[in-house]
Amino acid sequence: MKKLEMLYSGKAKMVFKTDDPDVYVIEYRDDATAFNGQKKGSYENKGILNNKIANIIFKEIEKHNVPTHLIEEISDRETVVKKVEIIPLEVIIRNVAAGSFSKRYGVPEGTALKCTILEFSYKNDELNDPLINDYHAMALSIATREELDEISEMAFKINEIITEIFKKINLRLIDFKIEFGKTSDGKIILADEISPDTCRLWEIGTDEKMDKDRFRRDMGGFMEAYNEVYKRLSETAF
Ligand code: UDP
Repeated sequence: MKKLEMLYSGKAKMVFKTDDPDVYVIEYRDDATAFNGQKKGSYENKGILNNKIANIIFKEIEKHNVPTHLIEEISDRETVVKKVEIIPLEVIIRNVAAGSFSKRYGVPEGTALKCTILEFSYKNDELNDPLINDYHAMALSIATREELDEISEMAFKINEIITEIFKKINLRLIDFKIEFGKTSDGKIILADEISPDTCRLWEIGTDEKMDKDRFRRDMGGFMEAYNEVYKRLSETAF
């Protein structure tokens, strides 16, 4: 397999074509962004940590029979993945109130929720990823009813799997964002990444934040937290 030209450059990673039409290579950069790119930084080794963290988690998700784009990690920053067309939905699961949910509904961060929340945002930077519901998604031809049902079922299952993974390394999964893609034969699989960039992770016992909120909120110890998450994941047998 040969890496060819870059297809797309996102906020934290790049996507490359390969000589295999069904395969891409993703490369994680050290960039950190927040608030739709308004806040920017670069942190040494962040790309390496997210690549390795995401791959440990995706491997575990695969073991539980949820299909993902992961094929193989080929270097510290590069992973070979199945080619998909990303469905322009940010699928968010919330186990505990935090972030934009706390702000929007006036609920203090850390408040327990009566049920797990599934939320969709329309992935569109120009519009600032607006919150949408199932009907918006269907009306805008983003996904069909059947696809939304499949995505929702997979998202709840992924929540169960990764809640357990993080519990084993003493972290509480507060919320996270995932993205799905469609393969050339129409199958929906988990794509993008799962990392401290896309999850809120609080230390069990102290509620210390071990995720991108340390960057968003200028709390310091940003890379130390990512290093610690990676260290614990790599030292744990799941
Ligand atoms: N999230 C993400 N990318 C986004 C928006 C949110 O990875 O573009 C993640 C975020 O890290 C958090 C969860 O999704 O774990 C819920 O985020 P929220 O809606 O509270 O938005 P935020 O407060 O991060 O703006």
